[in-house]
Amino acid sequence: MKECPKFTFGVGDRFAHGAHAQLKAFIAAKELGIDIVPTWNKSNREHDIIGSEPRQTRDAADQAVKDLAWTGEYLLDADHINLKTVDRFIAPCNFFTLDVADDIGKAADPADVAAFIDKHPELIGTVSIGGIDQPFEITAADVEKTANQFLKATQKARAIYDHIVAAKGQDDFITEISMDETDNPQTPPEMLIILAAIADQGVPIQTIAPKFTGRFNKGVDYVGDVAQFEKEFNDDLAVIAHAIKAYGLPAALKLSVHSGSDKFSIYGPIKKALARTGAGLHIKTAGTNWLEEVIGLAEAGGDALALAKTIYAKALEKKAALCEPYATVIDIDDSKLPSAEEVYGWTSAQYVAALTHDQSNPGYNQHLRQLLHVGFKIAAQQGDTYLDALKANEDIVGQKVTGNLLDRHMIPLFGK
Ligand SMILES: [Zn+2]
Repeated sequence: MKECPKFTFGVGDRFAHGAHAQLKAFIAAKELGIDIVPTWNKSNREHDIIGSEPRQTRDAADQAVKDLAWTGEYLLDADHINLKTVDRFIAPCNFFTLDVADDIGKAADPADVAAFIDKHPELIGTVSIGGIDQPFEITAADVEKTANQFLKATQKARAIYDHIVAAKGQDDFITEISMDETDNPQTPPEMLIILAAIADQGVPIQTIAPKFTGRFNKGVDYVGDVAQFEKEFNDDLAVIAHAIKAYGLPAALKLSVHSGSDKFSIYGPIKKALARTGAGLHIKTAGTNWLEEVIGLAEAGGDALALAKTIYAKALEKKAALCEPYATVIDIDDSKLPSAEEVYGWTSAQYVAALTHDQSNPGYNQHLRQLLHVGFKIAAQQGDTYLDALKANEDIVGQKVTGNLLDRHMIPLFGK
């Protein structure tokens, strides 16, 4: 097992042109005393939509690390993979996000459920967890229900893990399990039961991505009850610390926040919880980087602005198809989307204001932002036109990408 660094920060580089600008944010953060490990993540879905290969993400990251003389650690995350999709990620990646969401709710073998309940009498009754004032009251029926909901998913995690080990050996990668792309949040007592089941499967998990309460829509702020999130986050941290000891899980095990970009209203509570407990964190951002590319193009004006407008117009035209794979992680009100004609008439400043995530700016439009977030396929379809525009406007685009990561994500979350 490769030990997972305490703070890992996932960045997405959809078009493999942003790694330098992203790494510059980590370098600047390091100068501020913020020690976080860059983790380039790109899911199978993103590769399919763009028509790229995991190898290209690895090459772009390696090149940036070489060019900018980054001497720290860096990771490549096979993001949201399963048994069907993992193979092309195995060689280039050293961090694997095992996505078991599809198996949540699928009944496990009744004998396995019975064996799990038998093995874990400590989960039933009044369960006291250090750091949580109110003990959990868990009945045998609760354990059975949770096992029925999650046991099969943990068995699937084991199968994916074994598949990777068979190809790669077990020493050189980090294992994450993700359960975020599902309908219902997992409660802290469920988290405890799930971790016991993962430990039983022998998967050396070092970070786990639950579905938290509230909405984690792509590229926009958290929508939900911040106080409830804070309690759940703190309780999850306590459950993890407990499970490491009780079930012999890896000591580095930590929480992972997916769709973690731009969740400005919960960064404060997260930062406070980490400071209080000394816990680690994996935070995943991805598409927000591509949005910064578009903002940079819009700000550049001229042909680049025209291209940004074309991308919006085409995204609007293809809205249904673009949104379909992301239905659970976006909330777009069609009536708030400007027409293509309107956007074609915008100045550079109007476009930049609409897309830039600044809630205090009256020009900001979260609906347009979410549509463009899922609209990267349109840019991919522009082929070299889009890539050439990135190259021609490298400085302005790079400043947006670096500044967004550093000023709006890294410093608020990890700043001293
Ligand atoms: Zn996720």
